Amino acid sequence: MGQGDTIAAQATAPGRAGIAVIRISGPQAGSILDALSGGPRPSPRQATLTAFKRPGDRELLDRGLALWFPAPHSFTGEDVAELHGHGGLAVVAALLAEITHFPGCRLAEPGEFTRRAFDNGKLDLTQVEGLADLVNAEAEAQRKQAMRQLDGALGLLYEGWRAELIGAMARIEAGIDFPDEDLPDDLLGRQRSALAALVDEIARHLADDHRGERLRDGFHIVILGAPNVGKSSLLNALARREAAIVSERAGTTRDVVEVHLDLGGYPVILADTAGLRHSGDSIESEGMRRALQRAEQADLRLLVYDAAIWSSRDQAVDKLVDEGAFPVANKCDLVDRVAGPGLAISALTGAGIGELLRRLQAEVARRLPMASAPAPTRLRHRRALEDCGAALERALAGAAEELVAEDLRLAARALGRITGRVDVEDILDVVFAEFCLGK
Ligand code: GDP
Repeated sequence: MGQGDTIAAQATAPGRAGIAVIRISGPQAGSILDALSGGPRPSPRQATLTAFKRPGDRELLDRGLALWFPAPHSFTGEDVAELHGHGGLAVVAALLAEITHFPGCRLAEPGEFTRRAFDNGKLDLTQVEGLADLVNAEAEAQRKQAMRQLDGALGLLYEGWRAELIGAMARIEAGIDFPDEDLPDDLLGRQRSALAALVDEIARHLADDHRGERLRDGFHIVILGAPNVGKSSLLNALARREAAIVSERAGTTRDVVEVHLDLGGYPVILADTAGLRHSGDSIESEGMRRALQRAEQADLRLLVYDAAIWSSRDQAVDKLVDEGAFPVANKCDLVDRVAGPGLAISALTGAGIGELLRRLQAEVARRLPMASAPAPTRLRHRRALEDCGAALERALAGAAEELVAEDLRLAARALGRITGRVDVEDILDVVFAEFCLGK
């Protein structure tokens, strides 16, 4: 499975469609294209109407557009050919069969094109993640964040910090390795204030209330309440009202029903603890206990109660409201006066549902602001940044230059792990570029 293989796969989703794109990457891409087209190779990056024929008997398999991306100017950095044919199952099967029949060519593994793009330096790891997020983006805010990460904003930020660390390390190591050279005094002292500023910057970057991860995963809202207050009716009412429902599916456990909503461009996962409905009749029931447990993970809790009954004596309810749960009085169509706090709605008549959606959207937008600065979008970013910060703190506290340099190396490596560009050679490059030693 070396890089020497040529790989091919359908790049568009499988199934019947107007068009299917087959991508071929690797050293044989050009000759495979020539064999199928039987004609001269298209000009680089120019869509060319082409008859795709079976190389053996010249039977016409399909007619479509061929594109030729000679290395290194391609997605993978290798020679790439693309066939844009008709999106029929048999068409794609016939073309792929001919393509993978070539010696040295096989079907690509999942993610293998992107893996090659990474190996060839076309994308760093954060961009690879951004690409995955872009493909998975269901709401506008997710698209924006993923596009920014694919564009390299996050990687550039981390690479910038890493370059700063490597520079500091290089200066300190120069003092260790070449003590007789005419280097500026107190190298270590001079680095400290810059490093302290970087520690602050990383801490600020991390103190973002997990905005990036939340946006990527979707904002979790859980509907809580006693049995029969209308929780699942509310879920259905909200889901129906919101035109852009992305998907509706059973949740990860049998107890929970989830719908994915697009609330003004923000991804929201609304969960009803539906399976728990009939498991008890008081708020302390086992069902509620499990619902509350689940609710702890949620970003926002909707506390639904019957507009005629407000159990204010219930400590569990009080606690939920204290902790910021949104109280919602359902079945307001049945009462003249609502018994408790919050917004009056009726899942049955639709009264108040529009207002509830507006309030939820405002809350989500408040909690997931699209800041101008890129945010960490994965736990692995966060962990590596914490490792980096901890190593920097140690470096700042250290006195011996050797130990400081070692901690800086660890800090830089932590950042390098995020972008996937850990490389010790560049330390030497910086030393010699900056100090011109041995000239
Ligand atoms: P859950 O157990 O909390 O999920 O409650 P359901 O959604 O199953 O609703 C319980 C009952 O209340 C059902 O018979 C619903 O039709 C009814 N119901 C739900 N919402 C309303 C409402 O706004 N007004 C009225 N009058 N009935 C409602």
